[in-house]
Amino acid sequence: MERAVTSSASRLTRRQQAILGAFEGADAPMTAREAWEAARDEIPTIGLATVYRAVKTLTGEGSLRQIEIVDETPRYEPATRPHHHHFFCRACGRLFEIRKCPPSLRDMVPDGFAMEDHSIVLYGSCEECLATA
Ligand SMILES: [Zn+2]
Ligand SMILES: [Zn+2]
Repeated sequence: MERAVTSSASRLTRRQQAILGAFEGADAPMTAREAWEAARDEIPTIGLATVYRAVKTLTGEGSLRQIEIVDETPRYEPATRPHHHHFFCRACGRLFEIRKCPPSLRDMVPDGFAMEDHSIVLYGSCEECLATA
C-alpha cells in the first residue's frame, strides 16, 4: 500500500504535493477549504479553485480518502492512515478519529455476499461539548 502511494506521489505537481502535505500534517480530516488555508502557508498565492481541483484529483487517484458526514461538507484524509473510524460532534462540528473497530461486522453480511470494506461514523457530542452544556 505504501509503495503505491509513493509512486503516485511522484506523479503529482508541486501544488498537488503541497496540498497532500497539508492533509498529512493535520491531526484530523479537513475540508477542501481548510486544506486551502493550510496550503497557503507554503504557497501564499494558491487559489481555492486550485485546491478543490487538486483534492478531486488526489481523491480520484487514491492519495486522499473522502469521509462523508450527513449534511456536512465532505472532509478528506490521507489514504495511508491506518484503519480507523470517526466520531462527529454535532455541537462543535469537529471530527475525531476512533481507533476501535467492531469485531462482529462480518455477522451482518448477507449470505452469499462478500464484504470488501466498511466505514463507520458515529454522531453525538464530544467530551468538551458535554462538559460545557
Ligand atoms: Zn464537540
Ligand atoms: Zn473498522
